[in-house]
Amino acid sequence: MKQLDPVPPGAVLALDDTGASVADRPSKEESRARLSTLGDRFRTAQTALYANGSRGLLVVLQGRDACGKDGTVSNVFGLVNPQGLVVRSFNVPEPHELRHDYLWRIHGALGPRGAISVFNRSHYEDVLVVRVRALVEETVWRRRYDQINAFERMLSENGYVVLKFFLHVSRPEQAKRLEERLDDPEKNWKFRLGDLDDRARWDDYTLAYRDMLARCSTPEAPWFMVPADSKHFRDLLILDTVVRTLEDLHLELPVAAPEVLARRGTIK
Ligand code: ADP
Repeated sequence: MKQLDPVPPGAVLALDDTGASVADRPSKEESRARLSTLGDRFRTAQTALYANGSRGLLVVLQGRDACGKDGTVSNVFGLVNPQGLVVRSFNVPEPHELRHDYLWRIHGALGPRGAISVFNRSHYEDVLVVRVRALVEETVWRRRYDQINAFERMLSENGYVVLKFFLHVSRPEQAKRLEERLDDPEKNWKFRLGDLDDRARWDDYTLAYRDMLARCSTPEAPWFMVPADSKHFRDLLILDTVVRTLEDLHLELPVAAPEVLARRGTIK
């Protein structure tokens, strides 16, 4: 099966509609079967991460409205024990958050080593929406690429693995999903009028995403571009990347001390 490759550092991606889908993808049924097998491996790997406790995983999800960030959180990360999971969504910063530097709320939300932290939006909003809507001066947001790389390098030098997924949805698919949100009373609540403002700024966001991917995909914290027009294939590609990354850490379960094992068969 196709696997996701990291975006090469400095690579400028087109991010046009064709990149949002892959013709040669498994059927829904096949994806379901693979998700189930990968899910078993994911649970085993998460247990080792949790029990071992020496490494942490940070997963960052970014993308346009309706690209599937929420679906990924529930379909992929819902497969593992919630006890080892820290999920955090980042909304417009509260006034007290704005009184700090932009990485303060991000760092504070990161789970400990042993956990999988999943960020639904992240510090990357500070070079995306903040840039597109000119919420700070250009000189301020431009410096942030290097600051973010330094922050993520610090995490990786302190036991964290950082994986970042850009969920690439096409313009027609986004329109379809936003329409569905309006049509379906169960999904209405997710629709914000601001989503339409952001859609109107499609090209400005494309430039911002392109720079983010070119400037901040690093060997220690790579970006992956996920074709996200197909929901089941998106889940499969992300899960496959996460599982392979965790398995590559070769984390051992702690072995009980001899004096503990000596108690076997003695518990009355
Ligand atoms: P989502 O679209 O992720 O499901 P919301 O509809 O609540 O959730 O949208 C969250 C909003 O918060 C987005 O419009 C996003 O751009 C905005 N946001 C997140 N971080 C920041 C930030 N640092 N500065 C300004 N806006 C932000």
